[in-house]
Amino acid sequence: MKIAFIGLGNMGGGMAANLVKAGHDVRAFDLSADALAAAKEAECKTFTSASEACADAEAVVSMLPNGAIVKAVYESDVLPSTPAGAVLLDCSTIDVATARDVIAAAQGAGYDMVDAPVSGGIAAANGGTLTFMVGGSGDAFARAEPVLNAMGKAVIHAGDAGNGQAAKICNNMLLAVQMIGTAEAFSMADKLGLDAQTFYDISSVSSGQCWSMTSYCPVPGVGPQSPSDNDYQGGFASALMLKDLRLAMEAAEASGAKTPLGKHSQEIYEAFAQDNGALDFSGIIKTL
Ligand code: NAD
Repeated sequence: MKIAFIGLGNMGGGMAANLVKAGHDVRAFDLSADALAAAKEAECKTFTSASEACADAEAVVSMLPNGAIVKAVYESDVLPSTPAGAVLLDCSTIDVATARDVIAAAQGAGYDMVDAPVSGGIAAANGGTLTFMVGGSGDAFARAEPVLNAMGKAVIHAGDAGNGQAAKICNNMLLAVQMIGTAEAFSMADKLGLDAQTFYDISSVSSGQCWSMTSYCPVPGVGPQSPSDNDYQGGFASALMLKDLRLAMEAAEASGAKTPLGKHSQEIYEAFAQDNGALDFSGIIKTL
């Protein structure tokens, strides 16, 4: 299949390479010359504009930094240049309202389109083991699914347009709340003279158990290997968690959802990310 790929950064670079490995003819564009050179190395065909990359495409995948850029790229390049009948997939993490607007514009122009944000970081993008949460019509999902399967281990239909983004920000808001709670519990256990491993042994089989404890423990040396064992390097950067919390709070305000712990988590990560944006989000325990 001829697939245009726009946005070949930390995530998009590996995803485009996996589409090539699956036998697709990938037509890549990025504003960065370095990203384009890496895509060429991975045997993508490279182009000097998004319009040119889309000109002959049967599918378009985008992996871009934010909603304003996604909207601009679809309005100025993708929709005017992509042949009729192509399926469009935006895998970026963006706000729900923009995702719905862009999909409505694409549908108005006669395209099937999904929002398909991912769970999993750079290693999962490179390894083809991302999870995709997909919003869009049943027809659009059915057409997008085989393209996404080449880049991930799970592809889940979350409902109508924008619901992929809704699932992503609800999940990540819960993750932030859960991580802060886990960090607080281990810090208090320490202050009360309770050994971290002993507390883990008890709580991991008791009602406080959660993913942030048993898969991603913020205390070094406790639980399976995680970024805390590497001085909080790698993993999921606090700056990206903060981005998702900001999107979650925008969505909460727009929808009238009450999210007091989500709001407080955003404030906590705002403060932490000022000087520690590149550190893994479990590094929040250092502030307690
Ligand atoms: P990145 O900054 O590494 O890559 C974005 C790429 O888009 C860059 O190469 C940039 O040059 C390119 N770009 C920007 N504007 C462009 C334009 N107008 N036309 C063409 N290319 C353009 O970011 P990333 O880490 O790859 O993240 C991409 C998306 O994936 C974001 O929405 C992010 O929130 C989401 N995400 C990232 C991670 C992660 O761990 N990095 C995990 C899950 C989701």
